[in-house]
Amino acid sequence: MKRVFFLCLSSFLLCLNLSSEQKPNIILFLVDDMGLMDTSVPMLANEEGNPQKHSLNNWYRTPNMERLAKQGVRFSQFYAQSVCSPTRASIMTGQNAARHRVTQFISPESKNAGPKDWKWEGLTSKDVTLPSVLRSNGYHTIFAGKAHFAPIGHEGEDPTKLGFDINIAGCSFGAPGSYFGEDGYGNLNPKRKKRAVPGLEKYHKTDTFLSEAITLEAKKAVTRSLQKEKPFFLYMSHYAVHSPFQSDPRFIKNYETSKKPSPAKAFATLIEGIDKSLGDLMDHLEDKGVDENTLILLVGDNGSDGPLGDTYGYFSSAPLRGKKGTCYEGGMRVPFIASWARAGNANPFKIARNHLHHEQIGTVMDIYSTILDATNTSSPAKHPVDGVSLLPQLSGKSNKERPDHFMCHFPHSHRSSYFTSYRKGDWKLIYRYLTSGGKRKSKDPLPKYELFNLARDPFEANNLALSNRSKVNEMIHLMSEQLEAENALLLVTNDGELKPQRIQ
Ligand code: CA
Repeated sequence: MKRVFFLCLSSFLLCLNLSSEQKPNIILFLVDDMGLMDTSVPMLANEEGNPQKHSLNNWYRTPNMERLAKQGVRFSQFYAQSVCSPTRASIMTGQNAARHRVTQFISPESKNAGPKDWKWEGLTSKDVTLPSVLRSNGYHTIFAGKAHFAPIGHEGEDPTKLGFDINIAGCSFGAPGSYFGEDGYGNLNPKRKKRAVPGLEKYHKTDTFLSEAITLEAKKAVTRSLQKEKPFFLYMSHYAVHSPFQSDPRFIKNYETSKKPSPAKAFATLIEGIDKSLGDLMDHLEDKGVDENTLILLVGDNGSDGPLGDTYGYFSSAPLRGKKGTCYEGGMRVPFIASWARAGNANPFKIARNHLHHEQIGTVMDIYSTILDATNTSSPAKHPVDGVSLLPQLSGKSNKERPDHFMCHFPHSHRSSYFTSYRKGDWKLIYRYLTSGGKRKSKDPLPKYELFNLARDPFEANNLALSNRSKVNEMIHLMSEQLEAENALLLVTNDGELKPQRIQ
């Protein structure tokens, strides 16, 4: 009788152990300022829905992203906010920027201009965050790279205050002092010391590029985590490919013969360095035997900042219009690739292989819900979440839960200023609260309304606002409802709070 009891008990304990082993590891591979077209993976579909290469796909070299994409699903219509901190807060909270109120990039030293109550202090330990929720479900949580969650002197500048067990090189700012180990990543260069990357001292005065140093340390942290026999969440957040555009010497030879300007070549080497990091991590997971149980989500945090031409035209994100910081698609469309580190029979659930998902949109606020769904983790009941799980789309099916709208609310001055853009189905409205522009004054007034049909005009060339006023007003109505539902902060001028106005 005793023996039967112990056998039952040991089977029960074995089951418990197995179930914890089967929780997937998660790597969120977040690339700073990488737009949709900054890869050799074709991310856009032609009219038949098949992948189509464009010139930038032939310029960038990302074999490991190709390796990841072949095993999984990629999205052609994945939206981020137009600058980084709003996206980063959305990933951490699952909320749209209008709701969490980190609507502008965080200035490390001071309050960036904007509505009085915008959350310029960033995230705090009181906020519900993705790593803190995962930690409560038994995950070991690792942060590596660029944090930029809060200004200097605020608790959120330290990722370990936001739910991470480990912090590798993360701090208050987003642009590194230097990518070069010889410079100590800014620590050994008096001119760049203000943005000196913390930690990583062992690589100072060596020829280890910053992206490589972060990757080496992340691999070690993954190894230590596996020794703990806990599933891990690695928030792998490269400083690259943000400016300064310094060439990664390992890849310069691949771009030497090009006639493109030097900063564009340097940007391409930064992209290739990130790609190597992805491949090294995938190889490491294979060496450790956990590749089939590790889900990788690769995503950019805003549109491309590639130094390739005019900000509002067809250059950095071509054929999309605009770049980082603008209200056009090139400002907020980013790559999203989701795959197991290796597709195989031991995957906890199936992800469609080599699949370009172009029918529905996805957004950065969906990452929170997707990771919680993949790890069978509950979000705290009282925490409002705007995103949804994308797992149905990852299986290759349509997703009834995914709404067909996305709103980017930006009540600040930047490359595009004081605007709300609203995508709904095939339509996109850009509404400008002030037509004079922001700090960069426009010579001529900018259009107050821009309306595009993205199915017929995916590159935003034909503004239909004046010829389809009823559609503009329908979109204004829906956008205003969402602004109100998310308790958005509006721009305040001497005339009071500016609400979106109908077109006459
Ligand atoms: Ca960014």
